[in-house]
Amino acid sequence: MQTKLLINGELVAGEGEALDILDPATGEAVVTIPEASEAQVDAAARAADEAFDSWSRTTPGERSALLLQLADEIEKAADELGELESIDCGKPLDSARADEMPLCVDVFRFMAGAARCMTGSAAGEYVEGFTSMIRRDPVGVVASIAPWNYPLMMASWKLAPALAAGCPVVIKPSELTPLSTLRVAEIMAGIFPKGVVNVVHGRGPTIGDQLINHPDVEAISITGSPATGKKAMEAASRKIRHTHLELGGKAPVIVFDDADLEAVTETIRGGSYFNAGQDCAQPCRIYAAKPVYDKLVADISSSVSEIKVGSQREDGVEMGPLISAAQRERVAGFVDRARGSSEVTTGGNAGAGSGFFYEPTVIANTSQSDEAVQQEIFGPVVTLTPFSDVDEAVAWANDSPYGLASSIWTKDVGRAMNVASRLRFGFTWVNTHGIASPEMPWAAMRGSGTGCDMSVYALDAYTSIRHIQIAH
Ligand code: NAD
Repeated sequence: MQTKLLINGELVAGEGEALDILDPATGEAVVTIPEASEAQVDAAARAADEAFDSWSRTTPGERSALLLQLADEIEKAADELGELESIDCGKPLDSARADEMPLCVDVFRFMAGAARCMTGSAAGEYVEGFTSMIRRDPVGVVASIAPWNYPLMMASWKLAPALAAGCPVVIKPSELTPLSTLRVAEIMAGIFPKGVVNVVHGRGPTIGDQLINHPDVEAISITGSPATGKKAMEAASRKIRHTHLELGGKAPVIVFDDADLEAVTETIRGGSYFNAGQDCAQPCRIYAAKPVYDKLVADISSSVSEIKVGSQREDGVEMGPLISAAQRERVAGFVDRARGSSEVTTGGNAGAGSGFFYEPTVIANTSQSDEAVQQEIFGPVVTLTPFSDVDEAVAWANDSPYGLASSIWTKDVGRAMNVASRLRFGFTWVNTHGIASPEMPWAAMRGSGTGCDMSVYALDAYTSIRHIQIAH
């Protein structure tokens, strides 16, 4: 197993405290990896800063070629990377390989193309005797911080646009799930010039904090909790830096009375419990029109009760454990507190054994003000709340600090478009939920963050607009 950090082109052992990396399905350590020391974080950021001058002046074509090479190498190693991801996060092995690795590869390929197609607006004579042009140039060294739910995919969404834009990067995967990113660090060491990509491992409040506050860092890109997003903004306020934040979510699912309930049920079963519900776009806040509410509660509860929970390699396993004991306790707390006012129609218990399992859970008869409806649970739990009319549904959907994913279920296209225009979320699916592609933005609004991952707009976080003027 590759456990070394990547600093200035060299794979080096961490010189900080050793951290146990647990298999969430057993609760046992699979490997122990020393985190970076303060001196190593400093060396990584300085190496990135030294690499800036040459990397920022490579042509888009040169950067594109290296990104394509990286995509090919990740594709070749996809089975191994999927296995590492599955061990580290407890994900079903087949799903880690088939559902996640292709999007890691494809985002590098997309950004390899996007690097060559960046658009600027007009150039011309806006003042007589002068020619002006607009350039988009790399912002500088990027500190990237990734979460534990999709470790390599989130790392890819951060690395690909930053490198494509011409920015050197220091990335820190979550201290709970560093394995796939460290393996890719080894691959990247053989592709990129020294200092262009650096990977450090370690805890957030120490190593992460040092990294985002490093004097050489000009941009911070974080996927994580709102609390960590606020730390990034504090760091940005100490030295003015660009911030790109992809934070939590609490996706509403608005089901009108003409919706295809079978499709809704299938999507909830597949999407809400995928990755044990630890997904920022998880369809989790279901609002159903009163005429179809009871049927939907019955259908979803029955379908969810059949989800096969188990460890990574079990036959037919659909859902694995949560990431940690602490996360399971947090999820159980939400469900237990909801019991008084709502009805747990299926699930609601921890699994047996030493792993961090929790049953797929449905909570019905919730009200808008309930904690389970308001707060991000980030686990295998959905709530179902009945609504009376479209205005109530839209108001409740928007009544959340978060603004990431949302979906609308109806056969009436006009109603879907009207509601989509009123929702305040970075993305809205109609009659589906959860499909991502590199061409489309994974966009955050309000408490879910700023900017987006993927699509050409991801490059905005890593580029600055500049005006160049030439006197004739
Ligand atoms: P987290 O904020 O606890 O950790 C995320 C990363 O931030 C980790 O690498 C952690 O070490 C680091 N970190 C923590 N404190 C830090 C600090 N003070 N300074 C610098 N780095 C620090 O989040 P998590 O528990 O890993 O992930 C779950 C959260 O991430 C959820 O809220 C989820 O919705 C969100 N998320 C959002 C998206 C998205 O695309 N919007 C995607 C995945 C996860």
